[in-house]
Amino acid sequence: MTSVFRLPSSPFRLPSSVFRLPSSVRLPMGSLWHPFAPMAHVAEHPFVVVRGEGAYVFDEAGRRYLDGTASLWYANIGYGRSEVADAVARQMETLHAYHLFVDFATPPALELADLIASLAPLEGSKVFLTSGGSDAVDTAAKLARRYFHEIGQPERTVLIAREWAYHGMHGFGTSLGGMEPNRFGYGPLIEDVVLVPHDDPEAVEKAIDHVGAERVAAMICEPVIGAGGVRPAPEGYLPSVREAVRRAGALFVADEVITGFGRCGDWFASTRFDLEPDIITFAKGVTAGYLPLGGVIAAPHIAAPFFERPGVIWRHGYTYSGHTAACVAALVVLDIIEREGILERAHELEGELMAALAPLSDLEGVDHIRGGVGALAAVQLTADDPTRAGSTASACREAGVITRAMGGGALQVSPPLILTTEQVDELAIGLRRGIEASTAP
Ligand code: PLP
Repeated sequence: MTSVFRLPSSPFRLPSSVFRLPSSVRLPMGSLWHPFAPMAHVAEHPFVVVRGEGAYVFDEAGRRYLDGTASLWYANIGYGRSEVADAVARQMETLHAYHLFVDFATPPALELADLIASLAPLEGSKVFLTSGGSDAVDTAAKLARRYFHEIGQPERTVLIAREWAYHGMHGFGTSLGGMEPNRFGYGPLIEDVVLVPHDDPEAVEKAIDHVGAERVAAMICEPVIGAGGVRPAPEGYLPSVREAVRRAGALFVADEVITGFGRCGDWFASTRFDLEPDIITFAKGVTAGYLPLGGVIAAPHIAAPFFERPGVIWRHGYTYSGHTAACVAALVVLDIIEREGILERAHELEGELMAALAPLSDLEGVDHIRGGVGALAAVQLTADDPTRAGSTASACREAGVITRAMGGGALQVSPPLILTTEQVDELAIGLRRGIEASTAP
């Protein structure tokens, strides 16, 4: 079947030309190839971060910046927490890493899986650990298809995803991603993926009808679209699509790589929106970035065919699935989140951030402010122009606040969840100064 069934009016443009370098050309200085970067510029002008403390990071010259993005949405408990570093160091001296294949386990991996299962929306869930979010998404997509194979419905292979979605950059994640520039230039992506508009529940029903309910394996959905521009779902959207997917007998995969572990004020946004997902993906906030770790939570009915039937092996996993030291980092971080009331603070930040950012919508060059679900917001600029959003983000950095250009010409606001009320104001002031500087004649 066709790989992408697109409902009308895609908001994306493809690059109009391809740039070719002659083979004799001298490339810019610096060997590091940055992700998602215009390397012709970046190689000679990297912004080098050397230290972090609380909600701030410092550059090579010792200049301090308020981190308005928590790095890539993950530094939820802030920088420089020595109790995480100490616990990881102790673990590394004892056993830095051991794998989890077949019957191998480590105490931190066993403990972490139990802890995450106890926080999960569905009691009795099982936890498959990975090394990051893209691993988690590919694991979830394969699990959805493989589950149906195990229960005798192998024809269920279709995966539904949303425009503007970001599900990481592995094979399935790229194919399930809803931003055309991220899918461009690879030839055919994974088959049986259906993209639907991000905000229209009827489009999901139509897509299910179009392919046939009996062919649908799963819909994958960020409870709040993150990298695609911080787009909270419209009122009623999530319950409607959840129900449509349930009626089709398919699985609902909540991609909580950003929203999990506190960013939306609960352990999982799925709990907040009562989604009862069959599968949840997580990463980022689980370790707050102290070490890389991700994973998949499978509801008991999804895990059952693999746990109950002797001889069934899911031939899937990664060398660093549940890396031992990373599991220790997660255990300490989750303890800090609990002990320091970080979930409650994320709830408070929801209102504080929107109140502080709202006046920015009057600035020249700003269209509106989006957000209002946890510590997630976007300043939508008037032009859908990544270059302009990039230069506005640089001007904000000059003004002492780190933000980032996202899909659709918006600036990312996702600070560490430890931000104080004064720092919320500092964030809004820095963004204002940067936006004003970038629109000055
Ligand atoms: N899923 C979502 C919703 C994400 O936002 C991301 C990363 O930003 C990923 C998956 C991929 O995670 P990673 O970059 O850790 O591979």
